[in-house]
Amino acid sequence: MFLLVLRQSCKKAVTYCKLNRLQQQITCSFSSSSSVEDADIVISGGGMVGGAMACALAHNDLFSKKKIIMLESSPDRDAFHLQEKFSNRTCALSPATVTLLDGLGVWNEILQLRCHPVKRMQVWESCSESLITFNNEELTNSLAYIVENDVILAAIMKRLKAANVVDIRYNSQAKSFVIPTRGDSSSKRNSWVGLELANGDVLQTKLLIGADGMQSAVRRASKFHTLERDYKQSAVVATLKLSEMTDNTVAWQRFLPTGPIALLPLSDSVSSLIWTTSHENAKHLQSIPEDSFVDAVNDALWHERDQNQAINQALLTFSRAVQNVIPGGGSAKQLPPTVVGIETGSRAAFPLKLIHSSQYVRPRVALIGDAAHRLHPLAGQGVNLGFGDVVCLNKVLTAAAKNGSDPGSLTPLLDYETERQRHVLPVLATIDSLQRLYSTSFAPIVMIRSLGLQATNSLDFVKKMVIQQAST
Ligand SMILES: Cc1cc2nc3c(=O)[nH]c(=O)nc-3n(C[C@H](O)[C@H](O)[C@H](O)COP(=O)(O)OP(=O)(O)OC[C@H]3O[C@@H](n4cnc5c(N)ncnc54)[C@H](O)[C@@H]3O)c2cc1C
Repeated sequence: MFLLVLRQSCKKAVTYCKLNRLQQQITCSFSSSSSVEDADIVISGGGMVGGAMACALAHNDLFSKKKIIMLESSPDRDAFHLQEKFSNRTCALSPATVTLLDGLGVWNEILQLRCHPVKRMQVWESCSESLITFNNEELTNSLAYIVENDVILAAIMKRLKAANVVDIRYNSQAKSFVIPTRGDSSSKRNSWVGLELANGDVLQTKLLIGADGMQSAVRRASKFHTLERDYKQSAVVATLKLSEMTDNTVAWQRFLPTGPIALLPLSDSVSSLIWTTSHENAKHLQSIPEDSFVDAVNDALWHERDQNQAINQALLTFSRAVQNVIPGGGSAKQLPPTVVGIETGSRAAFPLKLIHSSQYVRPRVALIGDAAHRLHPLAGQGVNLGFGDVVCLNKVLTAAAKNGSDPGSLTPLLDYETERQRHVLPVLATIDSLQRLYSTSFAPIVMIRSLGLQATNSLDFVKKMVIQQAST
């Protein structure tokens, strides 16, 4: 125990010394101005969200003469070649995301690579016959598009590189930071953020954008308090082969007491699986033979053993009463597809956590994407919220640039934080509540949620509101 405390104290002391050295190095450089490189904006993290942020700035005339650096710890994969096999990592992109990507010329690149529309969605559960469907009959656009993460990133990087504005540095890991104290957002260079990279390079910047994912080092260095919830579950992903070629444009999600299972369409005969379950079951599902895995997926989509007949009877009576008041409301249940195989080697699992940073900004620092908020994937909102951050941060930085303000000054950054937290927090709370609400087979709860879902399914205007909300 004593040794542990001693080790931790030593570690803290070493980190403190290193940061002090970095601060001194930065301070010294003000007079000698030799080894420290200046930048207007540094984006730490070149994933989908960091890449989109860099792309938005690169295509913004007000930033074309600024020095913007994007750091990405992984190597450059050079030219992207679309594989015949689908990747097991996919995202459902909302219409708002499509609009953002379209504005950057990225959506056109995605269309030339691969994506698949979702025109209908069915959400149902294993404990009762309740369900809800969403259609795009009255809407001109699709509800969402399913796109492989690799495809999204490749399209973003192609457009980013084409603009030739941002200095993209692969194999560059931001290791330690010197962040100005609260309130110190003066335009003097010694109030800028200092960064030391793993290769020893030192940068200083007016604005550091943390797009470095759920384990964000920028968030930790900024000492932002975080709300965290470990779901003690994993999401098992795989690429599924369906029994027949169809117009496969329905997204299916069935809530089981152990977690939701979702099938997202990738082509007429292939869908992407996202199955939330306990860590133990996730391990088991990855280790069993492929045909047993296929049986387990079909069982999870079709089995009736959790059904509560008393609740189903109450639902039937309730639905008939609703039909008398709103004739024709709601839509009938469709049967999910049957899975006949999986793409070999496509199974993987990801532990699930909710992480929310209580602040997204401080002087000269802003967080975007998973660095600011990490959600349960059950509503497919994670990267969509990250792209929403990009739109908002780009907007406030543009306004600041038009006023001739420093991009790292706190006032515009606070506008970004306020606008995004107003949007993100209700989404985060709703998704977390849904996760809790559907994690039980306790009859009174099943009754309440089933009646609620069935009622919502009957009210088309409420469903339109839900679609509009999820699309922004
Ligand atoms: C199973 C599953 C399904 C999902 N489905 C959906 C969906 O349907 N729709 C949806 O909207 N979202 C979905 N999500 C969420 C989505 O995948 C994430 O929100 C998204 O990947 C976050 O992107 P990001 O760029 O913020 O972070 P990341 O993808 O984590 O990227 C961070 C980048 O920063 C780099 N980096 C990290 N540290 C450093 C450092 N110190 N220096 C330099 N670089 C660094 C990393 O290498 C990485 O490239 C899903 C998530 C899971 C797990």
